[in-house]
Amino acid sequence: MRILVFNFGSSSIKYELFDMRDRATLATGLLERIGESESRLCHRHRNGSGEFDEIIDETSVADHRQGMDRIGAILQQTKAYQDPSDLYGIGHRLAHGGEAFREPTLIDAAVLETIRGLTPLAPLHNPVMVAGMELALAGFPGVPQVAVFDTAFHHTIPPYVYHYAVPRELYRSCHVRQYGFHGTSLHYVAKRTARFLDRPFDSLNQIVLHLGNGASAGAIRQGKSVDTSMGMTPLSGLIMGTRCGDLDPAIVFHMARLTGWSNEQIEAKLNKESGLKGICGDNDMRVIEQRAESGDEAAQLAVDMYAHRTKKYIGAYYAVLGHVDALVFTAGIGENSPLVRARSCEGLHNLGIAIDPERNSQRSDEVFEIHADGSTVKVLVVPTDEELEIAKQTVERIQAGGVGRS
Ligand code: ADP
Repeated sequence: MRILVFNFGSSSIKYELFDMRDRATLATGLLERIGESESRLCHRHRNGSGEFDEIIDETSVADHRQGMDRIGAILQQTKAYQDPSDLYGIGHRLAHGGEAFREPTLIDAAVLETIRGLTPLAPLHNPVMVAGMELALAGFPGVPQVAVFDTAFHHTIPPYVYHYAVPRELYRSCHVRQYGFHGTSLHYVAKRTARFLDRPFDSLNQIVLHLGNGASAGAIRQGKSVDTSMGMTPLSGLIMGTRCGDLDPAIVFHMARLTGWSNEQIEAKLNKESGLKGICGDNDMRVIEQRAESGDEAAQLAVDMYAHRTKKYIGAYYAVLGHVDALVFTAGIGENSPLVRARSCEGLHNLGIAIDPERNSQRSDEVFEIHADGSTVKVLVVPTDEELEIAKQTVERIQAGGVGRS
C-alpha cells in the first residue's frame, strides 16, 4: 500500500513515498531552487539490500510543472513504483484550512475552490500548495488525493481562546481569529508520547514544543488541542528562525510611520528577517550555539531570548492545563539542542519540571526521557514525522470514504 506525500513550497517540492504496510520510507526527496539557474534535486531511495542510495540532480527546473515531471521520472527510474496507478493514494500538506476544514479531506474541484477562497488567510502558503495539488491531480489521474491541514488539529480550541480582543465584526467580516498551525506534527508527537508512556492518548495532558525553523507550543488536554502559540498566521508566539513571534502590534504602525515601508515590506521584515536571524544574523541554532560558546554577545542574547520565550509558554500552558503529564520537545532544535531544552526548563522545579543533565545530553532517533528522578512532569524528546502522519491520515481518509483500491 504505497502513499506518496507532497509538500509544495514557493521554490521547492518535498516528497516522501511510504509503504504503509510497515510504514517504511521507500523514497524521499527535496527539489529546491525551482525557477533559478541552479536547481537541486536530492533524491534518496531504498535499494535491494534495504539501504538508501542517493542521487543528486542539479539540472535547472523552470517551474513546479517541470519539477513534478522530474520527480515522477526519478521515482519510476529508481523503481519506487512501476506506474502511478501503483499508488494507493497521495497526501498533500496544506497550510491553512480556515474554519472550513477540520479533518483530512478528499480533493476534488469543489475542495480546491474552497481552499482557493482561503488565500487571504494564507497568502504566502496556500496558493502554491493549491497549484501543486492541481499538478498532482493532472499527473496522477485516478489516484485518490487527500489534503491534510496544519490547522485541523486545532479545531477543538474553544472560542474564548481563539477570539482576539478586537471588535467582533472583524471575526465575521475578515475571519480574524486564531487558527494555529503545526497541527499535524503536534498531533503525531502527542500520540507517540502516549504510546511511549503506555497511556491512552485521551487521558494525558501535554505541552508539546515544536522547535524547528518555525516553532509552536501546543497545550493538549486529554488528546485535544486547547491552545497554541501560533495565531491567525504562523507569525505569532515563540521566537523562530526568521519570524518574530509575539510582538506589540503597535510596533507595525510605528515602523510604518518612521520608515515609510509598505505593508508588504513590513510583513517581509517580520517573516523573513526577524527571529533568531534578526537578533544575531544567523538562524541556524547550531551556529548560534557555537558563537555563543565562544563569547559572541549577539548570539548569547538570541539564545537567552529564545529560551525565555519558550519558558514563558511552558508556564502559560501549565496554567491553562492545570495538570501536566508530559512536556515534549520536538523538531530540529527540540530534538537536537540539549542547551535550549535545559535553558527553557531552568528554574521550573517548583512546577514539578526538572531535567537530568546526563539524560538531556543524549542523542537518539528514538523517543527518550530527560526528566530527573522525582520530576512530577515527564519531560521527553520525541522525533516528529509530519510526512508519516500525513500518509497515515491519507490512508484513513481514503478507507473511510470507500474510495480505496486494494
Ligand atoms: P523546519 O521547520 O524547516 O522543518 P527543522 O525542524 O529541520 O526545521 O529545524 C531546523 C532547526 O533545527 C535549525 O535552526 C537548526 O539549526 C536546528 N538544529 C538541527 N540540528 C541541531 C543541533 N544539533 N543543535 C542545535 N540545533 C539544531
